[in-house]
Amino acid sequence: MKHHHQPTVAVDFDGVLHSYTTPWRGAHVIPDPPVPGALEWLREISKDFQVVILSTRCRTWRGRRAIKQWLRSHTLVGFGFASWKDVDPYGSIRCSYKKLPAWVYIDDRAWRFTGDNFPSREEVHAARPWNKPQPKKIF
Ligand SMILES: [Mg+2]
Repeated sequence: MKHHHQPTVAVDFDGVLHSYTTPWRGAHVIPDPPVPGALEWLREISKDFQVVILSTRCRTWRGRRAIKQWLRSHTLVGFGFASWKDVDPYGSIRCSYKKLPAWVYIDDRAWRFTGDNFPSREEVHAARPWNKPQPKKIF
């Protein structure tokens, strides 16, 4: 059973849930399918955690509606789910454009800081999401 004290997992939308191979066309336009496994993962993780989708798309009601419709439509067209309730059985998945306190952030553009590994200028220049072409090695 869900409890309000469950910690939050904050998950980025574009590049983590949405495969995002088509260039950006607006906050309410979501053209691509889910990353394989994304909806199954949402279902599993939401059993133990509050899930917040962090995205600039959540700034407008059209963007929030687009995310919800995208999640719902991809739930219904396949992925082995009978209904949206199978992905979000507690109705607890939220959408925010502000960084909220969270136990873990999942983002395709993050750099994991471990105490002394500030990224160099070169490392920041070279950083790319997993599904974008990687820059040529310059070292
Ligand atoms: Mg992203």
